[in-house]
Amino acid sequence: MSATEHAVRRVLKEAGGDALCAACLALACEATLTAMRERIETLLLDHEHFRCGVICGSCGRTVVTIVYRNSP
Ligand SMILES: [Zn+2]
Repeated sequence: MSATEHAVRRVLKEAGGDALCAACLALACEATLTAMRERIETLLLDHEHFRCGVICGSCGRTVVTIVYRNSP
């Protein structure tokens, strides 16, 4: 697991179920937007822990977002 992936997982868990977009996650994890979009695509393959959303809970934009599943 890369440092960025670890940071993304941590930020999403701390968001407490809020959906976050690539731009907000890139800021939180000090990663580039391009790298974060790729990271989100990878994390979304992990259906057990993550799902996608459509509205960012941080900036409020309607974009592809990722949400951590608190309960399976
Ligand atoms: Zn956002």
